[in-house]
Amino acid sequence: MVHSKVVIIGSGPAAHTAAIYLSRAELKPVMYEGMLANGTAAGGQLTTTTDIENFPGFPKGIGGSELMDDMRKQSERFGTEIITETISRVDLSQRPFRLWKEWADGENEEPAHTADAVIIATGANARRLDLPGETQYWQNGISACAVCDGAVPIFRNKPLYVIGGGDSAAEEAMFLTKYGSHVVVLVRKDKLRASKAMAKRLLANPKVTVRFNTVATQVLGEEGPRGLMTHLKVKNVVSGEEETVDANGLFYAVGHDPATALFKGQIDLDSEEYIVTQPGTSYTSIPGVFAAGDVQDKRYRQAITSAGSGCVAALEAEKFLSEEESSEENPAAATETGQTRIEPAAAEQNAEAAKEKPTGSAAAEYRQNPLL
Ligand code: FAD
Repeated sequence: MVHSKVVIIGSGPAAHTAAIYLSRAELKPVMYEGMLANGTAAGGQLTTTTDIENFPGFPKGIGGSELMDDMRKQSERFGTEIITETISRVDLSQRPFRLWKEWADGENEEPAHTADAVIIATGANARRLDLPGETQYWQNGISACAVCDGAVPIFRNKPLYVIGGGDSAAEEAMFLTKYGSHVVVLVRKDKLRASKAMAKRLLANPKVTVRFNTVATQVLGEEGPRGLMTHLKVKNVVSGEEETVDANGLFYAVGHDPATALFKGQIDLDSEEYIVTQPGTSYTSIPGVFAAGDVQDKRYRQAITSAGSGCVAALEAEKFLSEEESSEENPAAATETGQTRIEPAAAEQNAEAAKEKPTGSAAAEYRQNPLL
């Protein structure tokens, strides 16, 4: 069993940004990058896409895998130890925290690692629908992120479809009207789930048509590995009528699954199973456990916001560890630590309150961090 001051679970932009900051602060972080954890290669969601055009510093864009390879090299350059294994079990109920690797057999097996602080950056996965043609045209017309992909040339002045009836679907559809010739929203039910205000804006948009009681049944397009989608089969679930429509883009807005199964029952999750963090910070309900990236962010879900929150988590973990060290030397200072236990009910209220009032004392406090 190995002990480290800080272990990072995950390998996307949040994990690597945290690793770069922690290793430069000489905390010798260990990162478990996963071995096809949640079906995604080490490096996270960006390894499943081609060009990233909105990550600053790359005026010509950069390939998703290339960006993640470079982040990995940067983490290693400053001394992060990267282990290509998946963490399958954790015990966050006691310090040091205990972590087990996948394939650890038996309840009684010793943990692979213990740590004084843990950064959770396990990300999230966009839900898919398993439509016929989906695998072939994924990223060749089908996307789960309009903000990421909407501006690419294949969608310009073309008919685009969005699947979903919630706020995300409405937001994505309105965003896509900047690029597509027309945007059609397919809603399985006879009404939208989106908030009243959002639904009103969507229905009033002249570039949007909402088709209720309608589902997509198949994606069609050009032959060959680089062939693009060109058509979509849709079906009215009430009449059973099916038709094939012109469609050059299909955007899924049917939700994401944060990778939190591992932490369930140990850390506070919200109703959609995202980790609850104190507004403006990476603090979770457990002192010493920090969360960053899409695993705690259901709103923005971007590489740059994930990277930003990874930086916050590293600075807060560093502060937590150094305060702990000084409290061991001087127990009277123990109450000064920045992170306090949040009661579960208060945690979701905090998240709600943050939408209205995004600045908090914790954020102000970390701005005093000498590393900044
Ligand atoms: P993720 O990227 O979600 O990575 C987390 C990774 O951690 C997992 O994939 C896995 O490898 C590892 N992991 C998970 N669980 C464990 C475990 N138990 N043990 C060990 N390792 C584990 N954003 C943009 O800003 N621009 C874009 O152009 C863009 N395009 C996108 C295209 C696609 C197809 C997708 C799916 C997303 C895109 N995004 C884009 C969104 C962006 O990829 C995410 O916001 C970002 O990757 C989230 O980063 P993260 O650090 O939270 O973790």
